[in-house]
Amino acid sequence: MSEHEPGWLDGNAIAGLLEDVFGGDMTRVPRGCGSCGTHAPVAAHRVHLGAGAVLRCPACGDVALQVVEAGDRLVVRFSGTWTLVRPGARRRRPTGTSASTPRLRFGR
Ligand SMILES: [Zn+2]
Repeated sequence: MSEHEPGWLDGNAIAGLLEDVFGGDMTRVPRGCGSCGTHAPVAAHRVHLGAGAVLRCPACGDVALQVVEAGDRLVVRFSGTWTLVRPGARRRRPTGTSASTPRLRFGR
């Protein structure tokens, strides 16, 4: 028996899609809902699949993310507050920065 209501999957359902877009695992990325203030990782959100994928807040159902294929493009639209932590920032340091430049950190 599934603990989920019919019609949606958890955020892990679009893990591969988000990894294609962002180049890393996004399921643990925290997102703050602009409507109810809930902070939850992407994996805890609800995914509705149709013409595209819609990620919704697990508490209030507000839209968190929309992913739609448009021709040969993938269009991603965010809502709310997202905290992205990208491992390997040191290797990707922009040219022209010194070794004393603080490492980029997002979120916690
Ligand atoms: Zn919410």
